[in-house]
Amino acid sequence: MSAPPTALQLLRSVFGYAAFRGQQQAIIEQITGGGDALVLMPTGGGKSLCYQLPALLRGGCAVVVSPLIALMQDQVDALRELGVAAACLNSSMDTVSQAQVEQRFRQGELKLLYVAPERLLGERCLAMLAQGELALFAIDEAHCVSQWGHDFRPEYRQLTILHERFPAVPRVALTATADAATRREIIERLALDDAPQFVASFDRPNIRYRVVDKAHARQQLIDFLAAHRGEAGIVYCLSRRKVEETAQGLVAVGISALPYHAGMDAATRAANQRRFLREDGVVMVATIAFGMGIDKPDVRFVAHLDLPKSIEGYYQETGRAGRDGLPAEAWLCHGLGDSVALQQFISQSDASEERKRAERAMLDALLGYVEATTCRRQRLLAHFGEVLAEPCGNCDNCLDPQPTWDASVAAQKALSCAYRTGQRFGAGHLIAVLRGEANARVQALGHDQLGVFGVGGELDALQWRGVFRQLIALGLLAPAADGFGALQLTAASRAVLRGEQAVHLRRTPDRATRGRKRRQSADQRSGGSLEISAAEAPLWDALRAERARLAREQGVPSYVIFHDATLLAMLRARPRTLAAMATIHGVGERKLERYGAAFLALLA
Ligand code: ADP
Ligand code: ZN
Repeated sequence: MSAPPTALQLLRSVFGYAAFRGQQQAIIEQITGGGDALVLMPTGGGKSLCYQLPALLRGGCAVVVSPLIALMQDQVDALRELGVAAACLNSSMDTVSQAQVEQRFRQGELKLLYVAPERLLGERCLAMLAQGELALFAIDEAHCVSQWGHDFRPEYRQLTILHERFPAVPRVALTATADAATRREIIERLALDDAPQFVASFDRPNIRYRVVDKAHARQQLIDFLAAHRGEAGIVYCLSRRKVEETAQGLVAVGISALPYHAGMDAATRAANQRRFLREDGVVMVATIAFGMGIDKPDVRFVAHLDLPKSIEGYYQETGRAGRDGLPAEAWLCHGLGDSVALQQFISQSDASEERKRAERAMLDALLGYVEATTCRRQRLLAHFGEVLAEPCGNCDNCLDPQPTWDASVAAQKALSCAYRTGQRFGAGHLIAVLRGEANARVQALGHDQLGVFGVGGELDALQWRGVFRQLIALGLLAPAADGFGALQLTAASRAVLRGEQAVHLRRTPDRATRGRKRRQSADQRSGGSLEISAAEAPLWDALRAERARLAREQGVPSYVIFHDATLLAMLRARPRTLAAMATIHGVGERKLERYGAAFLALLA
């Protein structure tokens, strides 16, 4: 009799991957050996293998607790494609299929069973679990136990029952939410005090971070999407209305965009999510209601048209790009009005002062990120307590260093202008005064008679907006609590006004340079983030078309057949035999058998 396969052998034969990533191997050994574990890894880090492989290595069936009913079937399909006996139990299934799954579990035919928490906690399910052999419990999206997060699920708090009823079964809790408070809550709520913690680096080196100054947001978005033609991505907006309008605007210029927000009826939402997962190259325009657990590996970009709530939120949202490890882009379009609106929103809310303070601190951290002139990845990781020794080389500030200038005099003019006009006006009016525009309002208020009138002609209006935006981010100006956008001086303004403190700001290019840049970027139409060359394009399209055909035939998303990373490896390596095909990243035994020949035919 041959020895049972090792974890590495299964990684290669079942999943078609050459080596473990990061701490996967240590985690897998811990659980396979019968121990518990807490796993914190960024999105796309490779959490699923951490319980899927122990499930294959241990006797019995692994039970995976997941709140994402709508996505369970895809996870099950992906495992079945790999030849792994998997099933799910949730409220969307009819009673007959549920009974079948229960039967298969009792008879020991399943290796992985995905269950929604509310179902798992029912007596019927717990009784069933006692009648079969259990390999392990995996508690996915474990941050759902946290009352403070927006993904809170009360049922998650009752999951300690698993430990009480089945004390000998190992448990692994997994999440991509990094902060210390959530981590403590998970340990406490799930009684994982003694479990070793595996904390991965949260760096996502394949994601390129970019922040642009908002001028004409819709057109900027369309230009951005032009460099991602045919690729799947997510565009986040703050409001439902903006989601609808943006999706319509994109469809009008021929982009296959779909809306998603909590105000839509459940059926349409589910249908749109399904199309995003199953079709190639759909752009989802959504509020943050969309995204948790979307494990589509080939999301090539995440764009933000509005500021997210916090750096934590931003990192979660952008983390949905590039799970397959291939180049992906996080793009944020930010304007002056956004900072002001968010600060007002916080001031005017009914929340406690304590809560408001916390929200302001989150917003300040985010504005600091947005206005940063140094490596963005260093800032993001610093937020999670990680130190990146060198600038990353893959963010806008690294690739395209922003010239800064001594803006002390401009800052003084801006601050004096706010002061002289009574700290009762927003940036638009202040800029008109600075630039000496005697419009009706300026005249009616007599502001054309002030000493500051017309002192700022050296900058155009957009450049002044850049100055105001950065002054707000630096805490040198703050919107008044009254909610009308009036900008007021802060305690920190005084030193600048007196010339005791210099202000260095990022330079907003003038109008002529802006126009030139825009035309250049439109000319440099790249072959998308994966940089498929014109010569490679026909074969690339053929490989994708074959994948789409197989996916349609089997009613699964195309990434369940092969990831982009796998097609790309085929395109570049051009395997000519089945043996060569077997060495391609993501081609395991089962997929080689089923699809190897079809793809070889295209590569011949
Ligand atoms: P997470 O659940 O942590 O967000 P997944 O488990 O979905 O991440 O894995 C992210 C991607 O990385 C998937 O496409 C997965 O197939 C791939 N992956 C995971 N582990 C490896 C590995 N050891 N080698 C190659 N690819 C891997
Ligand atoms: Zn960088």
